Amino acid sequence: MAERDIPASSLAQRLVREPVRALSAYHVADSDGLIKLDAMENPYGWPEGMLDDWLVRLRSVPVNRYPDAGGRALKTALREKLGIAPRFELLLGNGSDEIIQLLVLCLGGPGRVVMAPNPTFVMYSMLSTAMGAEFVSVPLDDDTFALDRDAMLEAIERHQPALTFLAYPNNPTGNLFELRDVEAILEASPGLVVLDEAYEPFARKTFLHRLDEFPNLLVMRTLSKLGLAGLRLGLAVGDAAWIGELDKLRLPYNINALSQATAEFALAHYPVFEEQAASIRAERARLHQALSRFAALRVWPSEANFLLVRVEGGGARALAEALKARGVLIRVLDGSAPALAQCLRVSVGTPEENAALLAALEVCLGAA
Ligand code: PMP
Repeated sequence: MAERDIPASSLAQRLVREPVRALSAYHVADSDGLIKLDAMENPYGWPEGMLDDWLVRLRSVPVNRYPDAGGRALKTALREKLGIAPRFELLLGNGSDEIIQLLVLCLGGPGRVVMAPNPTFVMYSMLSTAMGAEFVSVPLDDDTFALDRDAMLEAIERHQPALTFLAYPNNPTGNLFELRDVEAILEASPGLVVLDEAYEPFARKTFLHRLDEFPNLLVMRTLSKLGLAGLRLGLAVGDAAWIGELDKLRLPYNINALSQATAEFALAHYPVFEEQAASIRAERARLHQALSRFAALRVWPSEANFLLVRVEGGGARALAEALKARGVLIRVLDGSAPALAQCLRVSVGTPEENAALLAALEVCLGAA
């Protein structure tokens, strides 16, 4: 039979690499018309005057030209605002998702082990598996979600991972791992350890200032949670030796001209975002307290801009559906990892959005 007579489904089945076929696509829920508390976004927009100035700035972006391939002006602004020492290099990604992909492309692959605790951000395992690496996940404490230091050290000794991811704070559990556990992992690891500090604006704890101490450390950040999720800008910071290798795999113009100009503009208005992050932190405390009053819910402490919640009597999926019917979208985690049975994840919204969530919960669960 000629290839053109074979249905595409059979061809795809035959040709697509097995680890890719075995994957499920990253699911993004349709949020039209809903209060969006499912994706850890900053719920605040920009002041009117700032929006006007931004549009003026965008008018002068030469979109007929390729963007600055090195993102030099943007890197300078990032160095200044994030306090990155001149001796370290930066890699920019189209979201930190792209940097995770580059890391796995660079250090993963057949015969390599990539490691992370479990549960954690799903892209680490998805991309590692797709690249044909062996992904080893080490369970966190199933009550506190702290790192199991002995289990991690044992797994590192046994599997010799080329790459280890630690989300700091962790998604979806919201906790910040103990400093001494992270240090022990950095010291014991033969491979690169990536501290993914996506939620740093809400935890305000970083390893950026400790890059000198650990030659196998890379720090990853994103502007997504700070308030620019739509822009897609992530960065990795570390020794030139690491960044230089990763940069070979980066597509030449991965950060488009509008993103570069917008990120530079936003960084020039950094205090706006710092204030928004402070509001989110204050609102996190209020939401934590309010959710804890529901007898049916267990709420974990969080250093991020979201809260992990367990529906103690079961029915997490039904509760999420009932909330959606009342206009509030949250994330169901039940089924994604053994330790997350009956768990939901709620982003911290504006006071009004959080009040809407609490009102809907009162209807669904009975008054607190
Ligand atoms: N790291 C962690 C821990 C995350 O939770 C996320 C987003 N949910 C990302 C990285 C990716 O962020 P982005 O691609 O928007 O920079």
